[in-house]
Amino acid sequence: MHSVIIPAYNEEKLISKTASVIDGILCGANIDHELLFVNDGSKDGTWSEIEKQALKYNTVRGICFSRNFGKESAIFAGIAQCRGDCAVVIDCDLQHPPEKIVEMYRLWEQGYEVVEGVKTDRGRESGFHRFAAKSFYEIMSNAVGFDMSRASDFKLLDRKAINVLLNMNEKNAFFRALSSWIGFKSTQVEYEVREREEGESKWSTKVLFKYALTNIASFSSAPMQIVTILGIIVFIVGLASTIEALISYARGMAQAGFTTVIILQCFTGSFIMIGLGIIGFYISKIYDEVKGRPRYIIDRTVGDKN
Ligand code: UDP
Ligand code: MG
Repeated sequence: MHSVIIPAYNEEKLISKTASVIDGILCGANIDHELLFVNDGSKDGTWSEIEKQALKYNTVRGICFSRNFGKESAIFAGIAQCRGDCAVVIDCDLQHPPEKIVEMYRLWEQGYEVVEGVKTDRGRESGFHRFAAKSFYEIMSNAVGFDMSRASDFKLLDRKAINVLLNMNEKNAFFRALSSWIGFKSTQVEYEVREREEGESKWSTKVLFKYALTNIASFSSAPMQIVTILGIIVFIVGLASTIEALISYARGMAQAGFTTVIILQCFTGSFIMIGLGIIGFYISKIYDEVKGRPRYIIDRTVGDKN
């Protein structure tokens, strides 16, 4: 069986359309499937829509979170609960072309264990958004060791890959990078990002910024090394100033160094503060991990008998 995992947050207008489109495509292609909607604590009628679809289609199941836990958690809940031999993760807003699911499934039948959907372009985005995304993906690509600039959450995973992901105990897991990091026989399918059909994007700049920082911290310790490098630079500058001050002292012109002292104080102070901030950020992430809280809490499910 093929599972389709669909995270949904405030998508009441789209649930029925998404269910009918994806179900139609998979029935047409003769693929035994289930659609697993994960309601990520929506504040609108998303859950009742999912319940309606579960009554209408015997392929639809639903999981309802007790509150909003974020898309990453919704994806992990989906892969934990799905019953398929392979599963594909797709956005609820039909921005990922659903007919590609069939193409991905055929590749899985040929023996590929991870099939990544890669964007041919990034769709319509503002200049700032594009720049921020580019910087984020550059840092991530360096940390992970492969190009992430066109990566997305639209991918198919074999049961083997799913089990590996489920056995990882990370709380701040970044699905998009982790599913490539695990390896296995993989291939890519290109797709064009479509316009959102209804509603609007759920990501504000603030949320995206937090998301980027968390994911960089979960994959890379480079920011912590920046502190060491800054420390070395400050040390060298300090050494040069000391020598200069000593020479002035020997020549009897000692008072002139006042400005240097101020500048040095400012630099050292700010570098120490930046350093402490970065270390604090990592410690907060370690704190999140050791607390061992669940990544999400399931309130209700529907369609378990489907
Ligand atoms: N989503 C979610 N939880 C969230 C935010 C978004 O499950 O906290 C879902 C959303 O319903 C959609 C997908 O993640 O199915 C992608 O969200 P969106 O379309 O808002 O993002 P964009 O396409 O703008 O990157
Ligand atoms: Mg979208």
